[in-house]
Amino acid sequence: MIVVLKKDVSENEILTIQNTINSLGMESRLMISGETRVIGTNEETPVFDDAPLRRLEGIQDIYHGAKPYKLASRDFHPENTVVMLDGHPIGDQNFTLIAGPCSVESEDQIMKTAEFLASKGVKILRGGAYKPRSSPYSFQGLGKTGLKLLSVAAARFDMKIVTEAMDPVSLQEVGEFADMIQIGSRNMQNFSLLKAAGKLNKPVLLKRGFSATLEELLLSAEYILSEGNGNVVLCERGVRTFDNQSRNMLDINAVPALKELTHLPVLIDPSHATGNRDRIIPLSRAALAVGADGIMVEVHPQPDKALSDGPQSLSFDGFNQLLEQLKPIARALNTQIRGIHE
Ligand code: PEP
Ligand code: MN
Repeated sequence: MIVVLKKDVSENEILTIQNTINSLGMESRLMISGETRVIGTNEETPVFDDAPLRRLEGIQDIYHGAKPYKLASRDFHPENTVVMLDGHPIGDQNFTLIAGPCSVESEDQIMKTAEFLASKGVKILRGGAYKPRSSPYSFQGLGKTGLKLLSVAAARFDMKIVTEAMDPVSLQEVGEFADMIQIGSRNMQNFSLLKAAGKLNKPVLLKRGFSATLEELLLSAEYILSEGNGNVVLCERGVRTFDNQSRNMLDINAVPALKELTHLPVLIDPSHATGNRDRIIPLSRAALAVGADGIMVEVHPQPDKALSDGPQSLSFDGFNQLLEQLKPIARALNTQIRGIHE
């Protein structure tokens, strides 16, 4: 059961509501997400007569048989959440571009990339310093050195940073440098990491696990929200299927489905979705057309020499082509690509 509280509910009224729920034999928990405050009960609430509750002050609505995720659900939070990265919104009416290399490799590489992307109007720079590689023999990232390089590049070109934290230990360090902390596909159900990220006052980019259902993704988001951090951005990055034509299969349906289920912004990562740079542009066009709030795309000055994910990284020329292909679609949809001028 979910009890949605009125905006002007008093602390005393909340206490009375919780006591009443407890006296009916259920556990209750107050949850806050932005402007919305709800009281949830333990999952297996038996069907019961809620008349004693309905008589109380401060209650806007009571829902039975509510979805297992609560704060992430659009049912109790109909308006879209706009996540702010230090003045840069994600989830408003505009389409956001996040771009940069898979991994920060060197000062030269990240400076060149940031300079190029900033010259195009891109405001959010991605780049991994701690890399979740499938093989322990693959490049693992530059760690703290990478974070420092990222932060120098972002400061020089007035950009915001998205970078990945792999565990609760590196989270603190990443949190010092990042404007938005990425939790990757492989860590989508690392619940201690999710809880720790929920305790930070920093936006989180949560990528869908490659075998995760949308409900599992939303429950993972719920871990972050229920710890008090309401700034979560979801990212569809392709799922595993039977077909090996591409690294993953982009679940384009995830965008309208998530838009229906949740108020959180939804991005698409067309690089990891296919593993093939030739498919980034068509899938980015689809992302814009289907109503995603933006894309996160890998870009490298010399993709063929990249230390990770080169085959799915756009060159600077490729990125220019991407912009040219997105502009007419944005025009047709009467939307703006944030920072990008005609
Ligand atoms: C990445 O963004 O570089 C990454 C490792 O993504 P994912 O977690 O989606 O594989
Ligand atoms: Mn990558």
